[in-house]
Amino acid sequence: MAVYQIYAIKYAGPFTSSGAFLMWHKDWEITAKRNYYIWCIKGAGDTVIVDAGVSPMLAKKRNLAGYVNPAELLSRLDVKADEIRHVVLTHIHWDHTSGVGIFANARFYVQNEEYRFWLKDPIANRPPFQYVSDSVSQAYLASLEGTNRLVMLNGDQKIFPGIECLLAPGHTPALQAVAVNTEKGTAILGSDCAHIFRNYREDWPSSLIVDLVAWMKSYDKLRAKASDLDLIFPGHDPLMTENYPFVAQGITKLA
Ligand SMILES: [Zn+2]
Repeated sequence: MAVYQIYAIKYAGPFTSSGAFLMWHKDWEITAKRNYYIWCIKGAGDTVIVDAGVSPMLAKKRNLAGYVNPAELLSRLDVKADEIRHVVLTHIHWDHTSGVGIFANARFYVQNEEYRFWLKDPIANRPPFQYVSDSVSQAYLASLEGTNRLVMLNGDQKIFPGIECLLAPGHTPALQAVAVNTEKGTAILGSDCAHIFRNYREDWPSSLIVDLVAWMKSYDKLRAKASDLDLIFPGHDPLMTENYPFVAQGITKLA
């Protein structure tokens, strides 16, 4: 079986909020930090990127603190963004998809149901959904519809030997996690199925919920799939930067 290395790439942050943002309805009285990440999966074959981060244009518009263009960060791993051929989009929130234009030659892997919701369902135009959306990158994805640069997945699907997309709804209608075979066993890039490691350990979601029942089932699914609880990685935890081997500025090796 193919074995891969996983790198966490911090492209913005830290940001500070009430702890209740990261731990739903708890921790109101404490403040907590979060970073923004993409991930790089490297092995013998093609490199796979998980999530696209934020475009320089949107980062400027949102005045995103600590922002570094994901393409520049990837160059520190000797990866050229415009040569990347595979990008898994875990979900269609602005901080995970607005950088799609950075990967000009990539094929994007997205759950069909996630795509349908954000691009076709009128409910996605309502304020709480618009708040976490980015219309520019959604239009970019829409322009790829029907081409081989947009791959729609229906539920769990292996996309390469040792790399499997796993449907894990709750945070969004059809968020997908990515299970990766590493030398430590099966690791999971869970993206925002948890914002921080504590969400998995305490069986508690973040505050951005579309379906709490589905979310709890997603936790069961990811825990059952991973070789160890420590190998399930969250979407925004500063510990991914602080507690793992330093590779280059902004980049650590998770597994
Ligand atoms: Zn996020």
